[in-house]
Amino acid sequence: MSNLTKSQSKSYRIAIVGGGLMGATLAAFLAPSQAEIYVLDNQPREKAYQSTHVIALSAGASACYAHWLQSDLFAEISTKIQRVETTAQGGAGKVVFTASTLNVEYLGLVLNASALLRALHQTLAQHRHCHWLESTTCQTIRSLESGVTLHYTTSDATLQTLTVDLCLIADGMHSPLTKQLGFGTQVHQYHQSAIVGQCSSVLPHRGVAYERFLKTGALALLPFGERGFWYVLVVDETTTPAWLAMHDTVFLFYLNEQMGYRVGLITAANSRHAVSLSQTLAPAVVANRCLVMGNAAHSLHPLAAQGFNLSVMDAHHLATLFQNFSKTEQGAIQTVLQSYQQQVATYQQRVIQAVHGLAVMGTQAWLSPFKSLGLSCIGQLPTVQESIATWSLGRY
Ligand SMILES: Cc1cc2nc3c(=O)[nH]c(=O)nc-3n(C[C@H](O)[C@H](O)[C@H](O)COP(=O)(O)OP(=O)(O)OC[C@H]3O[C@@H](n4cnc5c(N)ncnc54)[C@H](O)[C@@H]3O)c2cc1C
Repeated sequence: MSNLTKSQSKSYRIAIVGGGLMGATLAAFLAPSQAEIYVLDNQPREKAYQSTHVIALSAGASACYAHWLQSDLFAEISTKIQRVETTAQGGAGKVVFTASTLNVEYLGLVLNASALLRALHQTLAQHRHCHWLESTTCQTIRSLESGVTLHYTTSDATLQTLTVDLCLIADGMHSPLTKQLGFGTQVHQYHQSAIVGQCSSVLPHRGVAYERFLKTGALALLPFGERGFWYVLVVDETTTPAWLAMHDTVFLFYLNEQMGYRVGLITAANSRHAVSLSQTLAPAVVANRCLVMGNAAHSLHPLAAQGFNLSVMDAHHLATLFQNFSKTEQGAIQTVLQSYQQQVATYQQRVIQAVHGLAVMGTQAWLSPFKSLGLSCIGQLPTVQESIATWSLGRY
């Protein structure tokens, strides 16, 4: 059994369990603090690059990346959202946000999750004190007042030990490790699926994103590439097999009808797959030296595209705290964890409640008449528009 045991170094030793988007983002934001960082991910890196879904990053979240990485990581790999149009089927209400009226360069960025992960890996490769342990599965975590000990297995099934000052648990939705430490997650099933895929139109998208509340769900189109969109169609879970089995021509016809040809004629739609939708929430700080982050802490409904943006804000707050507290200070880790909890609690709760409300309101058929009315009202109230826009920009 070989060990990465505790050093007497003055910098922190941090383990990040899970090398998904959250784990990689945490490592990249914490790297400037000179902490010795170990990311344990049970997948080989190449497999993670095969992920096809896109992320809509708010302007606030992308500013966090620019701050910590000191570079414009996304210029080459993202599409800028300049305008968002929200409408309700069968209603006159419409809410429009534009980057120019809000005085920002863009409202958000759409980028492939795998391109983001690749860019983060390239950044991390420049930090000698950051170690990416791929194909490595964390089996147990033992958190004591003096430190955290992790036992993990490598690809050849060797058992190893790692001792650190802090463990960030970013092992994804339902977080098995949080459960192992004796902390449950609260789950709310929406009994819905997101049918996700790519489509393309005859017209250029001009950076416009669309969100449309339908009688029985919602449809979002995110501009991507030159003429492409990523669509997210929220449907009742019982209808999922029918949506997946639907002939491409029929599905195309449906998309065009629902969008009312606002985006021009949609001519192709492919790579359709389904994601089951639920909200899962875990306590933030567990077992005195462990912090739960990313989807493991809060997995949200995708309708407002806030899930990962919220996680990026969390990582930003944590990294800022690490800059301010030196390891040599008495009880520094506990102070960081307490301060973190205090800082994030209010905005996390606000975003989680708002996304949940939107998910319920936006996808219930019986609320259909109110959606249009609500949008008409919001359209007439600049102050309400402004607060929604501020929130969507990721300024929590
Ligand atoms: C279709 C789709 C569209 C989305 N769109 C958006 C969007 O527009 N905007 C947005 O903000 N969010 C969006 N999201 C959510 C977003 O993708 C996630 O919030 C984001 O990927 C962060 O995930 P994570 O890193 O916390 O968890 P995960 O991606 O689940 O990563 C967890 C990692 O931990 C590893 N792991 C698990 N257990 C262990 C263990 N014991 N040891 C070692 N490694 C382990 C896993 O292999 C995995 O690599 C979308 C999600 C989906 C599915």
